Amino acid sequence: MISENLSKIKANLPSEVTLVAVSKTKPNEDILEAYKSGQRIFGENRVQELVDKYESLPKDIEWHMIGNLQTKKVKYIAPFVSLIHGVDTFKLLKEINKRAKSEGRIIDVLIQFHIAQEDSKSGFTFDEAKEMFEDREFVELENINVRGVMGMATFTDNKETVQDEFRTLNNYFEVFRSHYFKFNDSFSVISMGMSGDYEIAIGEGSNMVRIGSTIFGARNK
Ligand SMILES: *Cc1c(COP(=O)(O)O)cnc(C)c1O
Repeated sequence: MISENLSKIKANLPSEVTLVAVSKTKPNEDILEAYKSGQRIFGENRVQELVDKYESLPKDIEWHMIGNLQTKKVKYIAPFVSLIHGVDTFKLLKEINKRAKSEGRIIDVLIQFHIAQEDSKSGFTFDEAKEMFEDREFVELENINVRGVMGMATFTDNKETVQDEFRTLNNYFEVFRSHYFKFNDSFSVISMGMSGDYEIAIGEGSNMVRIGSTIFGARNK
């Protein structure tokens, strides 16, 4: 089932869109099934679960941290994480830089923006991000590489709302790219879209989608 689900999704993804298979709460067997059909990028949202899976699964998997990340837990994933999607404070970014430095790495990150109408979702506002990008301390962070932006739309059946929010994120991406990342070609990622809204997200310029339940089935709570 999992490999069939994956091939159905991949058949409909434009070639420039990267698929992050969101495996949170799912057992290693499920991940291995996806792995055997060629999937190499997986996303998790809990640090302990991410570390356990990293330790027990093939080493050529790229692990993405997609969830809310507490500053004090960065050290556990700093040795191996490929991309951290949910950077929602300057403080967190500084901690990632510090831990990356002690690992002798440069860690790729995405800046999370608050685009939804729900307060439960975190992220920078446009102005907060602007302030950070202009901060001297930001410019001096040497062990992080900002690859782009990430956001989650409001959980609603109203397609126009979702579309507007994704369009807003794409606009932010373009503005920041042309102002602060003009000379960084790797600032290229727009991570938006989940099982319920990834087609809309792609229509609004997403080039990285994070899909869980459509691949692995509903999660047990
Ligand atoms: C769980 C999760 C997803 C995947 O959600 P599905 O609806 O199962 O596709 C994507 N992004 C984030 C940040 C998540 O926490």
